[in-house]
Amino acid sequence: MTEHRYIWCRNCNEIHHVTPFDRAPGYRMNLGEETELPMDDRGAFMRRHSGHRLEGLQGVGERYFPEGQALDPMRVGYVEVTNGKESFVVRSFRNRIEDPLHFELLRGRLKAVGTTASIQENEIRKEMKHHYPWRPSERPDDEKIELFVRLFNEVVRGMDPRQIELCGYDDTASSVAYGVLSSAIVEKLMQECRNHFDQETLSGLRRFIDAHRDQDGVMTLRIVRRYAIEESGE
Ligand SMILES: [Zn+2]
Repeated sequence: MTEHRYIWCRNCNEIHHVTPFDRAPGYRMNLGEETELPMDDRGAFMRRHSGHRLEGLQGVGERYFPEGQALDPMRVGYVEVTNGKESFVVRSFRNRIEDPLHFELLRGRLKAVGTTASIQENEIRKEMKHHYPWRPSERPDDEKIELFVRLFNEVVRGMDPRQIELCGYDDTASSVAYGVLSSAIVEKLMQECRNHFDQETLSGLRRFIDAHRDQDGVMTLRIVRRYAIEESGE
């Protein structure tokens, strides 16, 4: 996990993100020519704020990306940090895709407000259509795959996400985890499927489910913790 460290200028209320790349030179392609940029970000920040009241801020482990992948350049991120005495939330965002990441400091902390579980729809479709070695008589066509995805969605929507046993975490966002598909959920899903599919498709689906329900299988559930920013007054 990346360590989250920042320098905060209390006079200007500006934030600098401390990264291992701080002092590395940057390159930019300009009309086909590569130009080196002076990229000593930390040095520039320290010079700009020399004589000001600077404070180090350290991540406490909670971070949250409300929408989009952590690697999406336009995503907004929230990281809870502390200066040792008070809690803050650093909000990071870009106004335009070509801009550098902006940081903004909010007084308060990240508070977990709930958990949602969802299925990995696209991964399931991809695995069913392109990868899984179906027995020829058991292979579902696209229409059956869509129906299966819909039934699976309905079953998971009716579940309490807190009851799901976790089996892995997303490397890029600590608010995302993966949950095992329990026997109870599998039973419920199979029951729904029995109303719609013939015997051969059913046994194929059952084999598919059992092959992908734990570890990094596509039938594991995506568990997302939701946070709110609990702001505190000055
Ligand atoms: Zn300053």
